[in-house]
Amino acid sequence: MKEFDYIIIGGGCAGLSLAYELEIHNKLKDKTLAIIEPRLEYKKDKSWSFWKTTDHNFEDCVKKSWKNFSINIPDKIKHLVCDKLPYQSIDSGLFYEKINSRLRQNQNISFYKDISEINLNNSFIFNSVPSLESSENKLWQHFKGVEIETTKNVFDDEIINLMDFDCKQLDSVHFFYTLPYEKNKALVETTWLSGMNNDLEMDYDEQLKNYIENHLNIKHYKINYTEKGAIPLFYPSNINEKNKINIGTAGGMTRLSTGYAFLNIQEHSRFIRENIENIKNVQKYEIRKKYKFLDKIFLRVLKRHPKEMPNIFFKMFNNSPETVIKFLSNKSSMFEDLLIILKMPKWIFIKSLLK
Ligand SMILES: Cc1cc2nc3c(=O)[nH]c(=O)nc-3n(C[C@H](O)[C@H](O)[C@H](O)COP(=O)(O)OP(=O)(O)OC[C@H]3O[C@@H](n4cnc5c(N)ncnc54)[C@H](O)[C@@H]3O)c2cc1C
Repeated sequence: MKEFDYIIIGGGCAGLSLAYELEIHNKLKDKTLAIIEPRLEYKKDKSWSFWKTTDHNFEDCVKKSWKNFSINIPDKIKHLVCDKLPYQSIDSGLFYEKINSRLRQNQNISFYKDISEINLNNSFIFNSVPSLESSENKLWQHFKGVEIETTKNVFDDEIINLMDFDCKQLDSVHFFYTLPYEKNKALVETTWLSGMNNDLEMDYDEQLKNYIENHLNIKHYKINYTEKGAIPLFYPSNINEKNKINIGTAGGMTRLSTGYAFLNIQEHSRFIRENIENIKNVQKYEIRKKYKFLDKIFLRVLKRHPKEMPNIFFKMFNNSPETVIKFLSNKSSMFEDLLIILKMPKWIFIKSLLK
């Protein structure tokens, strides 16, 4: 069986981002790489959105950027502007196409559907398949989104609605999210933060229909694309071994309080590329400990006091948008962290800190 210098298990966001980063920096000129990916074909299956707090390799896959956003709870709305750090949305179809067409030009890169087809013994492995066993009682961000096209121009395509909490919450945290790509096209998502144990929450189609028709007041539209997913708001149990580094969700690149992972994955890829010659000896790359600690408390509050969460998210944005965005994107200073913490309801957080 064939042997390779590097093996990437899972050719999704993290696997392909890493392969691309290595390829464009000429790290695969004299090294061989195998990418193991079972999917039969690549097509658009996600939209990756995030605040652009660092540069990345996929500016040409950005469907749209926005500088204006809103967040609302029943009876209150905040309009916010952030010129410096726009919110971007990447089309995964363009991303897959761009990366795969580049990688296929390098004969040192091979593609396989199953790990059993190659010899792993002497390779360095980057694994992006998360181990999610024993995940009962854990929190997930689970959602379904539809990209709709309306007959008339109904959207203001300069502003996104980041979180609309004016909807039924059950005993969870629930919001809708609207990204208007054009005046007549938008991605509308129903998002839940919960244990995924309530069937009523899974009634995504009915929720979306009701929201689009009765809340956004759009009666004439068609659905062009659908995405559905669940992001674990806990770290998978994959462990790094001597010749193996976990990447992507498996590598703990999800920010647990937000579910955002795309830019963390890009930064991890850059780190690996910078250290590839000495990869066996580098320290584990992690989201900074202070965010892990703060997110742990935040999720404890979320689990115990779901009803308070719309207000908590809303209040967080009493800070300047730049401060909040930097905090949610792991780029805040201690002072900015403090500003965020001071806006939180003290007693609930202190109680959750203590146990
Ligand atoms: C629908 C959806 C929308 C998201 N939106 C955002 C967003 O807007 N912003 C953001 O920052 N994050 C978002 N995320 C979170 C995160 O960015 C994505 O989940 C991202 O795809 C994680 O990258 P990954 O490589 O870890 O996982 P994936 O992209 O899922 O890649 C894993 C790959 O492994 C393959 N695979 C599975 N089993 C095996 C196996 N046994 N052997 C080999 N390969 C295998 C899969 O086919 C897949 O291609 C979203 C997640 C989902 C599910």
